[in-house]
Amino acid sequence: MLPYTTVEAAEAALGRSLSAAETLWLNYSANKSDYFLYCHNILFLFIIFSVFPFYYLFLEYFFQKYVGPYKIQPKVTLSFSDTLRCYKSVMRMFFLVVGPLQLVSFPSIKLIGVRTSLPLPSFWEIVAQLGVYFIVEDYTNYWIHRFLHCQWGYEKIHKVHHEYTAPIGFAAPYAHWAEILILGIPSFLGPAMVPGHMITFWLWIALRQIEAIETHSGYDFPWTPTKYIPFYGGPDYHDYHHYVGGQSQSNFASVFTYCDYLYGTDKGYRYQKKVLQQLREGVKSNGTMHEVSAESQKVD
Ligand SMILES: [Zn+2]
Ligand SMILES: [Zn+2]
Repeated sequence: MLPYTTVEAAEAALGRSLSAAETLWLNYSANKSDYFLYCHNILFLFIIFSVFPFYYLFLEYFFQKYVGPYKIQPKVTLSFSDTLRCYKSVMRMFFLVVGPLQLVSFPSIKLIGVRTSLPLPSFWEIVAQLGVYFIVEDYTNYWIHRFLHCQWGYEKIHKVHHEYTAPIGFAAPYAHWAEILILGIPSFLGPAMVPGHMITFWLWIALRQIEAIETHSGYDFPWTPTKYIPFYGGPDYHDYHHYVGGQSQSNFASVFTYCDYLYGTDKGYRYQKKVLQQLREGVKSNGTMHEVSAESQKVD
């Protein structure tokens, strides 16, 4: 809750005029508790888990002709009832684990110093902090994910997330409850190291989930803006990890590709890319029209 409730009081405290965004924030948050503002994440996550995967489903059902060529595993199509079952399962976990986790984790957010006060952070401050959060999450997630692929971790916990060998957007948060709790740690570490404003924290939670939905979408669209992010893994990268499944020792990273490159866990994926490229070049030079599907040459 802010220590002032009017624009005049806020401007007197800051010693300058408020920006339009700051006035908006003041009007919205002045009378709301920090706990209530933090709990907005529950609503944001509910909307993101529901709307963003639906976007891919919508394209698949109504624009099949246009998006079909970008489907990573074209021979696998989940029925509507299976998709619905996935969404129901995610929602059950949402109400039993994700939501309650948000409700009880507020003290840790207070402890690390996520603030709701004015002034608001600048655009570049938000971008820089989000960059740190993504890098820290990616690195920590890499090692936890790699651990979850040991026999015990996989059989007891991670197997659930790998039920979908051809993932869909709805399956991004589909996981064992223990995995949801464990992977909350990498998400928390970045803000703990570089605490920012509540708005930055909201953006972080939202963008991380939107990114996860994209990487599980099963479609590798050339027009996605994430193509411009250096070292970004994307849907094709993570889809390979799901395709290979439990035996996978490739593509553990959640966001970027450099960890797998540095630690030598992208060899299967690189080899598959090379073989596919050679096949395509062979098809071109022979002038034949063989279908070279991505899934026909998966190796690990
Ligand atoms: Zn995995
Ligand atoms: Zn996955």
